[in-house]
Amino acid sequence: MAHIVVLGAGLGGVIMAYEMRDQLRKGDKLTVITKEEKYHFVPSNPWVAVNWRTREEVEIDLTRTFAKRKINFIPVAAKGVHPTENCVELENGQRVDYDFLIICTGPELAFDEIEGLGPNGYTQSICHVDHAQKASAAFKKFCENPGPIITGAVQGASCFGPAYEYTFILDTELRRKRIRDRVPMTFVTSEPYIGHLGLNGVGNTKGILEGEMRDHHIKWITNARVKKVEPGKMVVEELTDEGELRKVHELPFAYSMMLPAFRGIEPLRGVEGLVNPRGFVLIDKTQRNPTFRNIFSVGVCVAIPPIGPTPVPCGVPKTGFMIESMVTATALNIGELLRGKGAQHEATWNAVCLADFGDSGVVFVAQPQIPPRNVNWSASGRWVHRAKIAFETYFLRKMRRGESEPFYEKAALQALGIGKLKRVT
Ligand SMILES: Cc1cc2nc3c(=O)[nH]c(=O)nc-3n(C[C@H](O)[C@H](O)[C@H](O)COP(=O)(O)OP(=O)(O)OC[C@H]3O[C@@H](n4cnc5c(N)ncnc54)[C@H](O)[C@@H]3O)c2cc1C
Repeated sequence: MAHIVVLGAGLGGVIMAYEMRDQLRKGDKLTVITKEEKYHFVPSNPWVAVNWRTREEVEIDLTRTFAKRKINFIPVAAKGVHPTENCVELENGQRVDYDFLIICTGPELAFDEIEGLGPNGYTQSICHVDHAQKASAAFKKFCENPGPIITGAVQGASCFGPAYEYTFILDTELRRKRIRDRVPMTFVTSEPYIGHLGLNGVGNTKGILEGEMRDHHIKWITNARVKKVEPGKMVVEELTDEGELRKVHELPFAYSMMLPAFRGIEPLRGVEGLVNPRGFVLIDKTQRNPTFRNIFSVGVCVAIPPIGPTPVPCGVPKTGFMIESMVTATALNIGELLRGKGAQHEATWNAVCLADFGDSGVVFVAQPQIPPRNVNWSASGRWVHRAKIAFETYFLRKMRRGESEPFYEKAALQALGIGKLKRVT
């Protein structure tokens, strides 16, 4: 009988555990190892950061849900992964052996690559709920004495949607507080144009997002490389499309939130054959590591090359639906390997995203993610804000219940032609 270990229980890891549970044979064992006992719904962090949600409203006690699904749970961080020994070493000294390992450890946030960046420096973050809470406290203080705001995403970032979301959410909240007129806002991004999103745009995201920026009096700097951040000042180099230095900006700010670049977590970095130089897990089309064939990986921690060269490095975002497609392919592949068959399922990696702007929003669908696409669609409207709230409620409820994809969700996605699996051979 086999022991399957899921490492990391964020968005990818939790649904991975649920879907893997359904693929086990009698007697197989499933264990989840993760850093924190509670799951937090990361897409709600921009709301936590303006006090529209509390931490408790977006968290789930994993001990209870995993017990309900008969999944063994170890809430202790991994210190090392030893693929040649088929074992994960934990911070408490425990060693956990596996037959199959599924790495779902998300990103490590590379704030240290830019002087003064991040919650230990002078900018806020919304990447983790702890950061979002800190950002919310700083925002409350800011509102007592408003000034310029800088938001955006730095060089090497791959997660642009939440930077736009938080910018427009801040704008909405400032308007509600009637202090927007005292807050000049600037969006600073490594993207070559507004709406690129690391995906070379989806549908008309360039037009829609530029229009929204103009309508909301938000200035922007693209092709931007943040040189350093000092208290109340960000030094930004703006490059030309040819990659030459166009201008150095010294931007004053009273509040700032910048998305950092990501890299793989420390316990994975440097493991020969498992990860690339930035610590992202190498996988083939079936989510399987080419060197260590009993290791699979899903989520932000997988290595995906950029969509094309840009003057300032921009990564490809790994969004929720895309991660869910990686999960489904992985669960089916391991299920088949357990039964002596081959791993042949490929995830579509389709990107489907709802970006909330506080009172409206933008939705986009990219199928496949890399152009030319079969579906390349984006739209905006007030309904997107309501849809995102409904999605949050729905997602948290199914996570608490220990479900990944109820039959009605599958049917709805099928009806919309949005699939998770590319090819079933
Ligand atoms: C602010 C923000 C908003 C987003 N909003 C959206 C959205 O609206 N829609 C969308 O489609 N996508 C969104 N995304 C992108 C993506 O869906 C999320 O980042 C998602 O959480 C990624 O899931 P993951 O499982 O790869 O990583 P995570 O959810 O980050 O999970 C990683 C897990 O690994 C664990 N871990 C880390 N290190 C260790 C260790 N050493 N040992 C054990 N466990 C460890 C962590 O504790 C965590 O449980 C957003 C991203 C961000 C940052």
